[in-house]
Amino acid sequence: MNGLQREILKLKQEKEAIVLAHNYQRPEIQDIADFIGDSIELCRKARHTQARIIVFCGVDFMAQSAVILNPDKKVLMPSQGALCPMAQMLPPDYFELFKEKYPGVPSILYVNTLGEAKALCDVCCTSANAVKIAEAIPAQRLLFGPDKHLADFVAFKTGKDIIPVPAGGYCPVHVLFERDDLLKLKQKYPEALLMVHPECPHEVIEVADFVGSTSQMCRFAKEAKVRQLIVGTEIGLIHRLKKEVPDKEFIPANPEAICTAMKAVTLEKVYLSLKEEKYEVVLSKEAINQAQRALKKMMELS
Ligand code: SF4
Repeated sequence: MNGLQREILKLKQEKEAIVLAHNYQRPEIQDIADFIGDSIELCRKARHTQARIIVFCGVDFMAQSAVILNPDKKVLMPSQGALCPMAQMLPPDYFELFKEKYPGVPSILYVNTLGEAKALCDVCCTSANAVKIAEAIPAQRLLFGPDKHLADFVAFKTGKDIIPVPAGGYCPVHVLFERDDLLKLKQKYPEALLMVHPECPHEVIEVADFVGSTSQMCRFAKEAKVRQLIVGTEIGLIHRLKKEVPDKEFIPANPEAICTAMKAVTLEKVYLSLKEEKYEVVLSKEAINQAQRALKKMMELS
């Protein structure tokens, strides 16, 4: 542990704060976090903490979800540059246009959306429960956003008529995986199993042995009866996998699958965030109430 990490631990105690870190965060940040997980696991942790301050090491939409579920807590984002490009692809007013175009069609928004957009949908979902949520809604036609590839995955799994909103939303990290590269890796490591995230394109998903969220990948890796796994998501997850499953080998499916928004959070910024109590995440009361309804509905249905 370095000096800055020790200072952060000291400040955490003094300020009655906890640090939550997403699976894609830098290793040195994961190492000082109180909890590491995917976006919804982090929100659940935020909901049950007694801490006065939550330092949320992730991207904007995740910190906003923590505020929506815990409006009485002070939630800080260490970096103002940690903005998820996919969440920005669905501005709330654009989503409203789609709702007007398809009146009466229920809408599901992936949690990777801005708080004000979540406030406008019927129910939220995560990559782990998207299929379950779509199945639970008694309608054949659904609006789904903002990730087109997750929408395709849900359509494939449920047989429902899914209208992607916007038409071409995507995660810039998960479109970096190429089917041919993965087939070559599978040839090179014939014993290994390939895990990919459902934000990957369909042709990539087709060649995977397991498709799931980052937390589902961690569970799968622990239980898999193989010694090697190829990891088809942001490379930050490999740090957690190596710590939790030390007896297995993890091969990045693409070493360049790096989310620059996630990596905008640095140890220095976490330290300053705690010291100066910045940058507080603020949402309107109305957006919080509306988005809370969509997130709670998701928790009910999943
Ligand atoms: S990995 Fe993709 S969806 Fe996740 S924060 Fe980065 S850009 Fe957004």
